[in-house]
Amino acid sequence: MSVTSLLPRATQPGSSTALENLLAPVRRRLGELMRSEALERGDIEAAMHQLTEVAAATLKVERASVWSFSEDRSRLLCTDLYERSRGTHSSGVELSATATPNYFAALAHERSIAAHDARTDPRTAEFSAGYLTPLGITSMLDAPVFSSGRLTGVVCHEHIGPPREWEPWEELLAGTFGDFVSIVIGAAERAEQARALHAYRGHLEQLVEERTGELKASEARFQLLFEAAPVALVMSRASDHTVTAANARAAAMFAVDRSQVVGQHAPDFWVDSGQRTAVLRALSATGSVASFETQLKDTTGKVFWTDISARVVQLGSERAVMFGIRDISAQKSAEEQLRALAATDSLTGVLNRRRVFEVAAEEVDRAQRYERPLALAMIDLDLFKSVNDRFGHAVGDVALREVARTVRESVRKGDQLGRYGGEEFLLVMPETSLEAARAVLERVRAAVQRIAMEPQVALSVSSGVVTLRKDEKLEPVLIRADAALYSAKQAGRNRVVSG
Ligand code: GH3
Ligand code: MG
Ligand code: MG
Repeated sequence: MSVTSLLPRATQPGSSTALENLLAPVRRRLGELMRSEALERGDIEAAMHQLTEVAAATLKVERASVWSFSEDRSRLLCTDLYERSRGTHSSGVELSATATPNYFAALAHERSIAAHDARTDPRTAEFSAGYLTPLGITSMLDAPVFSSGRLTGVVCHEHIGPPREWEPWEELLAGTFGDFVSIVIGAAERAEQARALHAYRGHLEQLVEERTGELKASEARFQLLFEAAPVALVMSRASDHTVTAANARAAAMFAVDRSQVVGQHAPDFWVDSGQRTAVLRALSATGSVASFETQLKDTTGKVFWTDISARVVQLGSERAVMFGIRDISAQKSAEEQLRALAATDSLTGVLNRRRVFEVAAEEVDRAQRYERPLALAMIDLDLFKSVNDRFGHAVGDVALREVARTVRESVRKGDQLGRYGGEEFLLVMPETSLEAARAVLERVRAAVQRIAMEPQVALSVSSGVVTLRKDEKLEPVLIRADAALYSAKQAGRNRVVSG
């Protein structure tokens, strides 16, 4: 952008000197703006102040201001307003863009909006009642601000007094001020990037220095993202699995001092090398792996559950793998707790009906597939209705809990007990013959009789025990267990009957 570009293409003979005289101070002041120290520093506020002052002075307007659009472009926010007669700067006024659609449309399409009579001009008349009239503004000369090709704001020059005919060179100058605003914004962004980069350099500086030119800039941007990422990121060299970079989150996650990150051996952090091989194989097949759940460990040996995503990246001539790691231990244990909760009976703590059915079905499948023995028993409390009737339901509940505990203590670890009905339990005994199962249930029967509780309640159970037959499904085997239980009741209760 040069000041000569402001000169009208066709100037009347003889008027060029006059125009030169007019533009000389403008040219000088614009030059000063471009070399301004505030601009260099990326001090957006100071640079905007300078701009609005120069704009008000050169265009001889009372008010010069810079506005920026809100993210959704529904509002224009005044970032700096200079009022020449008072010599003051202010900011913060908002204009609703939806209430002024014509103005908004004009901004998007025109290089500048020169409204000689702003109150009647179709592009600016919308401002009359709420803005122009109360402030005494008669003429407006506005220019849009584009940053990276997007309409991001507007510079406004507002004249107070009799309506004013804007000169073509003044329109051009307004556009130039608009360009200048985008230069200021760009400079501020670059200064901000430079500041952030500086803050994040540290050991990554070395990596950045290895790259040149364009790559250097993209690397720097990459490093910014690397540090700012909400997950732990680790980069390891594909050739020897040496860690070449890790962000602060990763260093903390693996209990590695940041100065010790580079040179760590990535495989040391895996718990299961088979899992690692699986991830690497998937990586070489497809170049990336998403959401692989595995356990990793830190340098103190602490093991934790993680969700890993990985991607092969080419850094210059070197192939590397970038791992994104989330610690999901908390999620895992919450899941486990939920799963356990969803599977247990709240009164007795043994498996609930749904889960014990699942377990029984799984065991039936397994026993059939591998032709292994499987025993099942239905255990029912004897005359429990009368326990409730005599002692009350609460005591009945305690008795149920006691029986469940007693059964659990009388069986093997691999056996699974579930509450099948109100006072009825299903015991699943893998790898157990009928004889052995009978012995277990006999032990249970005797132990239940010994239960001592306050108040004294004489408890006993009857059981029906069966073993799975070849090709038999769950349902028929349960029916047989139930029939055996019925026989035990018929035969006088407090006994084990096998069927
Ligand atoms: P039987 O020896 O023939 O099994 O006699 P029973 O009284 O145990 O048989 P029945 O099936 O007629 O009665 C079962 C009783 O168990 C009825 C019900 O009040 C009681 N019961 C079922 N679930 C619970 C429970 O969660 N808590 C309590 N306290 N009692 C329960
Ligand atoms: Mg009963
Ligand atoms: Mg019953």
